[in-house]
Amino acid sequence: MPRENAADYGSTLELLPEWYVLVAKCGKCRHQGRIERRAIAGIHGWGVDLNSIGRMLKCSRCGNREGNKLLLGKLPRD
Ligand SMILES: [Zn+2]
Repeated sequence: MPRENAADYGSTLELLPEWYVLVAKCGKCRHQGRIERRAIAGIHGWGVDLNSIGRMLKCSRCGNREGNKLLLGKLPRD
């Protein structure tokens, strides 16, 4: 059974299926950008709670650290 987005928010980076991409959205300028999960794991470890990642993000465009969100997107699967 494929899991839905909502379920994964109670999960950790380590348990997130491979076909999800992580996208950061800035709470200030609305900039969105892909995040490499390895980049997060390198800093916070693979056991990091997905709910807590948003608070750790910094916008690459305006440098904002407040109100940023982590979005999960699905890659098309062949
Ligand atoms: Zn920004």
